[in-house]
Amino acid sequence: MSVTTHVLDGKAIARQLNDELRAELSRLGVKPGQGPRMATIYDAQNQASGRFSLAQRHYAEGLGLTVEPMALRHDMSRDQVQQAIEQLNRNAAIHGIFVQNPLPQQIDPQWVSTLIDPRKDVEGIHPQNSIRRFFGKARIGSCTALAVMRLIEETKASLEGKEAVVVGHSEIVGRPVGMLLLDKLATTTICHVATQNLRAHVERADILIVAVGQPRLIKGAWIKPGAIVIDVGINVVGNKVVGDVEFETASTRASFISPVPGGVGPVTVMMVMKNLVEAYKLQQSI
Ligand code: NDP
Repeated sequence: MSVTTHVLDGKAIARQLNDELRAELSRLGVKPGQGPRMATIYDAQNQASGRFSLAQRHYAEGLGLTVEPMALRHDMSRDQVQQAIEQLNRNAAIHGIFVQNPLPQQIDPQWVSTLIDPRKDVEGIHPQNSIRRFFGKARIGSCTALAVMRLIEETKASLEGKEAVVVGHSEIVGRPVGMLLLDKLATTTICHVATQNLRAHVERADILIVAVGQPRLIKGAWIKPGAIVIDVGINVVGNKVVGDVEFETASTRASFISPVPGGVGPVTVMMVMKNLVEAYKLQQSI
C-alpha cells in the first residue's frame, strides 16, 4: 500500500507557539525583562546541560522572558539543594523552576520535583500537577506530553476510538502522554521494558508515540500503513542525533511522522515557555 507521508515540522510549530505567546504577553501588558522569570537548575559539570540552559535562555529572551541558570555543584548535599529550591519557592520574582536532567548522582530528580512549588512547576512534573492531570484538570501540564499532543493536533486527525500505543512509561513522558490520549478517547496501550511482543502492539497502532531512548528500537517495517508516528527519543549515535524509530523505512509507511532532530524537541522548549507564562498568570491570579 502506498502512503503519502508528511513530516511534521517541529520548528514551524515552535514558531507558531512563539507568536501565540508573544501575542498573549502583549495582551497581558508584560514588558520585556519585567514579566515571567524562570530558574533553570542543572549539573555544573554537565556540558550538554549547560549548553541546553543557554539555548533555553536564548528562546526565552526572544520573548522578553528571563531565564536564570542555577548550576548545582557535585559537592552539594541534599540539604543544600533543598535550601536552594526552597529559596526559589519563596522568591516572588521567580515564577518558574526548571530541572535539567541528569543531576549530580547524589540528587534524585524525583525527590527534587516534589520540592518545587507546584505553581512554579514549568515541566508539569510535581505530584500535585500529575494528580490534576489524572482528573483532566491540570493548568500546568507535562511539557513534553503537551508537545506530543500539539504535533498530533497538527495532523487534524480525530483520536476518538483510535488505537494509540505509547512505548515507554516514564513519569515525565510516557505516562502523561497516555493520560492525554485517554482524554481524547483513544484506546490507549502503554508498553514498557517488560512488554512481550512489542512488534505486535506497534503493528496495530493508528497513533504511535515512542519515548524510550534507544536508537532505532522501532523498526520501520512494524509501522501500520497510514499511522501517525511521534518519536520523542533523543540518541547520539556517532556524530548524529537520531530518534527511537527507524525513520527512513517508517517514513515510507506513516501518514505523519516527526523527525529527530526537529520534531518534538523544539515544540517542548516552547511548551516550557508556555507553562512559564501560565505559572506567572497563576501567581498573579490572572
Ligand atoms: P526514561 O529512561 O525515564 O524512560 C524510558 C522508558 O522506556 C522507561 O519507561 C523504560 O521502562 C522504557 N523502556 C526501556 N527499554 C524499553 C524497551 N526495550 N521496550 C519498551 N520500553 C522500554 O526516559 P524519558 O522518558 O525521560 O525519555 C525518553 C527519551 O525521550 C529519551 O531519549 C530522552 O532523551 C527523550 N526526551 C526527549 C524530549 C524532547 O523534548 N524531545 C523530552 C524528554 C525526553 P523501565 O523504566 O521499566 O525500564
